Amino acid sequence: MIRIGRTTAAVLVALLVHASLAAQTRIQLRKNGFSPSQDVQLGRQAAADVRRQLPMLNDRPTEALVEQIGRRLVAAVPARFAQPAFRYSFDVVNLREINAFALPGGPMFLHRGMLQAARTDDEVAGVMAHELSHVILRHGTLQAAKAQKFQLGAVAGQILGAIVGGQKGAMIAQGSQIGLSTYFLKYSREYEREADLLGAQLMARAGYDPRQMANMFRTIEQQGGNSGPEFLSDHPNPGNRYDAIVREARSLSIAGTAGTGPTFDSVRLRLARMPPAPTTQQVARAQQRYPLAAPAR
Ligand SMILES: [Zn+2]
Repeated sequence: MIRIGRTTAAVLVALLVHASLAAQTRIQLRKNGFSPSQDVQLGRQAAADVRRQLPMLNDRPTEALVEQIGRRLVAAVPARFAQPAFRYSFDVVNLREINAFALPGGPMFLHRGMLQAARTDDEVAGVMAHELSHVILRHGTLQAAKAQKFQLGAVAGQILGAIVGGQKGAMIAQGSQIGLSTYFLKYSREYEREADLLGAQLMARAGYDPRQMANMFRTIEQQGGNSGPEFLSDHPNPGNRYDAIVREARSLSIAGTAGTGPTFDSVRLRLARMPPAPTTQQVARAQQRYPLAAPAR
């Protein structure tokens, strides 16, 4: 019979607790044929398209809150994923759908509908941490590299078609070259799984509750009707999404409380008092009637 003293038992328990905390999933950077500075360049071009084609909210208190959450998350990126060349930015688009997207090298865009659907800033942080994970894992250019005809010089401004998504998006994109942006925004289930898990880890490191990411995905799933969840067609459920995030959350300890509470509530109230945001389709239709000038490159 093995006898262990009380102290030894306590040490063993401490080791076990430590082991369970340390059991977070280790996500690896994949080999990418693009250089980080190409990520930055491509993302910057696509972001210029976004800012030209989509209505930006330009509301200072809202932008300040989103910026605050974004900076906290970026500061929580582990050193092994740090990309000194990347330039992170966080903008709010005045669109109704619950959606968000991020481009290679750092530009991130949140729909106003996402902010209005979220109940806490932890939920907003959940979506942002997921998007940020795609950026730091460089999924956009990895995805683009899978597209055969891709050439670096051939970036076309098809961002709107990509955001509207599906058949409607293809109609908007019709007649012009299919843009690289499409590849930046649609991820495989494998990449989704990585972004969920790394996103949960970033949240905990930044002081947000990772389970709120799972809650936000539930809210997105429940969104129905015409403004259907394009987010989910770009970010397909890798399977058992909710449970997988909650399981990962159990292995993480949350570093403090980053949620702003009253600040978040006041921003939500502000947004609720504004005239309703247009849908992406309304914006797309208006642009088909009054096409934008071709981008100068
Ligand atoms: Zn995703």
